[in-house]
Amino acid sequence: MIKKLRIMTPGPTPVPVDVLLEGAKETLYHRNPRFKKMLTSASEGLKKVFKTRGQVFILASSGTGAMETAVANTVSPGDKVITVVGGKFGERWAELCKAYGANMHKIDVEWGDYLRADQIEKALKENPDIKVVFTTLSETSTGVVNDIKAVAEIVKKTKAILVVDAVSGLIAEPLEMDEWGVDIAIAGSQKAFMMPPGLAFVAVNGEKAWKRIEESKSPRYYFDLRAYRDKYTDTPYTGAVNLVYQLNKSLEMIESETLEKVWERHAIFANAMRKGIQALGLELFAKKPGNVLTAVKVPNDIDGLEFLKVCREEYGMVFSGGQAKLKGKIFRVSNLGYVDKLDMISAIVTIEMAMKKMGKDVLIGSGVKAVEESLLEADEK
Ligand SMILES: *Cc1c(COP(=O)(O)O)cnc(C)c1O
Repeated sequence: MIKKLRIMTPGPTPVPVDVLLEGAKETLYHRNPRFKKMLTSASEGLKKVFKTRGQVFILASSGTGAMETAVANTVSPGDKVITVVGGKFGERWAELCKAYGANMHKIDVEWGDYLRADQIEKALKENPDIKVVFTTLSETSTGVVNDIKAVAEIVKKTKAILVVDAVSGLIAEPLEMDEWGVDIAIAGSQKAFMMPPGLAFVAVNGEKAWKRIEESKSPRYYFDLRAYRDKYTDTPYTGAVNLVYQLNKSLEMIESETLEKVWERHAIFANAMRKGIQALGLELFAKKPGNVLTAVKVPNDIDGLEFLKVCREEYGMVFSGGQAKLKGKIFRVSNLGYVDKLDMISAIVTIEMAMKKMGKDVLIGSGVKAVEESLLEADEK
C-alpha cells in the first residue's frame, strides 16, 4: 500500500519544494560578497516578520540555542527573573535560568491554561528588582496562546525587560515587537518559516535590551550577542550558508502572501480544526487555543500512543503526542507553516478513520463536514 508521508507536527513542519531546492544550490564561501548580500537581505526580511526596527540575528542552532542566547545575554548569576511555566517550553526557560544561576520567581500556570497579565503585574509589584520576564507566545506543548501584548503593556512600565519565546508563534500568530514593546523575541527555522531545522533567530529591540546585554556577567562565547551586533549584517562565524538561501526563499514566499494573510490563514485553519474535533465529540485541551496547533484530549477508552501509531502506520500521517506529563493524554494536530486546506481535510479524516479503527464510536464524516463548512465559510468572508 502506498503511504505518503504527511507531517502535521509543530516543528519540523512541511517544507515546500521551492525552499528545498534552494538548499541544493552550490555552497558559497561565507565571506563571498554574494553571500553577504544574501545575509543582508535575510536580516531585512526578518525585521519585517518580527515587526521590529531592531536587529535580528541569525544563529546556526535549533530554537533552544536562541533561548540559551537570550538567557546568557540577559541574566547574571543571582539576578531576579520571572519565568512563566505553563508547559514544556515555559519549563525550558526555567531550566535555562536555573543553569545560569538566576534567582527565579516562577509563575506556575496549569498546563492547558493561559497566563493572566495580572499575574505578571502582581509578581512585578511584589518584586520590583526583577530584571527579566521570560514568557512564551505559543506554548507548543499545550496549544495555548498567551496575550503578550497585555504582558508587554505591564513590563514596559518597569525596569525589567520582556523576553518572548515566539519559536512556534512567530508568523503564525500576530506579534508586533516594536508596537507592543517586546524587548527580545526568538524564533526557529523549522516552524512557520517552512524550512528545515538548523537556524534560530534572536531579535533585539532597543536600548533597554542592549543595556541589559552589556551588563550581563554570565559566561558566553558563541552565543554572545555583542559579537553578532559588531558584525551585523555579516556573520561572526561560518554562516549556515545553504539554510540562509532557504531562509531568503521562505521570507520571499511569506512577503508575497503578506504576513497579515499568513496570520489569517493560520487562524482560519486552526478554527476549522477546532470545529472538526468538537463535531467528532472530542475535547480540546487548551483553555485558550492558539492558531499554531490544536491539542486534543485522548478519550479515556483510547490508547493515545497507539492512536498516533495507527495514524502514522496506516495513513502516513504524523501528529505529535503529548510531552512530559501529557504523554499519551493528548495529541496535537499542527497547521503551522506550509499547510493547505486539503491537508486540514486529510488530518481530520485520518483522525476519524483511526478512531473508528480503534473501536471508538465516532460518526464517520461528522468531523470532515465541520472542517469543510468552516473552510467554506471563511472563503465567503
Ligand atoms: C520548537 C520550540 C522551541 C525550540 O525547540 P528546538 O527543538 O530547540 O528547536 C522552543 N519553544 C517553543 C515554543 C517551540 O515550539
